[in-house]
Amino acid sequence: MRDPRELLSMLGLETLAATVSAPAAAAFALRVPHAFIARMRHGDRADPLLRQVLPVLDEERVVPGFVLDAVGDAAARAGHGVIRKYRGRALLVATGSCAINCRYCFRRHFPYAEQTAAAGNWREAVAAIAADPGIDEVILSGGDPLSLSTAKLAELTTALAGIAHVRRLRIHSRLPVVLPARVDDELLAWLGALPWPLAFVIHANHGNEFDAEVDAALARLRGAGATLFNQAVLLRGVNDSVDALAALSERSWQAGVVPYYLHQLDRVAGTAHFEVDDARARELHQALAARLSGYLVPRLVREVAGDEGKRPL
Ligand SMILES: *Cc1c(COP(=O)(O)O)cnc(C)c1O
Ligand code: SF4
Repeated sequence: MRDPRELLSMLGLETLAATVSAPAAAAFALRVPHAFIARMRHGDRADPLLRQVLPVLDEERVVPGFVLDAVGDAAARAGHGVIRKYRGRALLVATGSCAINCRYCFRRHFPYAEQTAAAGNWREAVAAIAADPGIDEVILSGGDPLSLSTAKLAELTTALAGIAHVRRLRIHSRLPVVLPARVDDELLAWLGALPWPLAFVIHANHGNEFDAEVDAALARLRGAGATLFNQAVLLRGVNDSVDALAALSERSWQAGVVPYYLHQLDRVAGTAHFEVDDARARELHQALAARLSGYLVPRLVREVAGDEGKRPL
């Protein structure tokens, strides 16, 4: 779905059309799979899934401190789609594409990543990893790496299998949540045959993002040998309450997914209305820890440009 008015009318929310921003939609289009829309609540103006995808007037506000490259990726980009800002880990910007456009994402300013690792049949990315014995983990990220074909992804892992110092593979993808049909037989056959232990990090911000179809896709991924984790972003109006965060953790676990990170928002231009301040974030996190089993409490972290890993709050 690419049309804000059509989306709102499907949801019985025509009156929200006045809050839609044409410039925001022109700069970073609405894009959301029907499978995800199906989990939005009809007639709910504050639906937490709708809020993540609707281009709104709030995005036009210019707020000091909210910038274009909030996480320093431009500086860390070492070569064709390979980011080496985390110690021991090579992050491949496999593709700039996603199935969904999340309004809080840094991608809003780089919708078409100019240098992706898949360009030139992965050659440059594989060469950069082969040349650095300090890299023992390869992280497929994006954009969303699963927006590439499985055949294209298999070309990469075949090449990586020949590099002895690569010991782990990780995939970061929101597709099992927003478009569970992507987890098809071909994908599972590829994953099941990989020569490394596989960590698979999904991205869901609210318990309502799970349904039976998503559960089934996640069960299939686990069946192919993946260990599943979730990363979420703390977002005002989406999940900034103890109840919402607890429900997210519990629902993730029910789907076989370990809550991993709760990210403080990257201060990206146009996203200030999603920010939760650090004091409130800590308070929510402490309340969550007091309520839930330890393994259901994600780490509260912030990405700091130049750091070699996530900074705990
Ligand atoms: C933080 C981060 C990583 C590294 O994750 P760790 O789990 O801390 O090793 C990889 N990719 C992205 C996009 C990240 O933000
Ligand atoms: S799926 Fe991830 S990378 Fe893609 S727009 Fe959403 S937050 Fe950004």
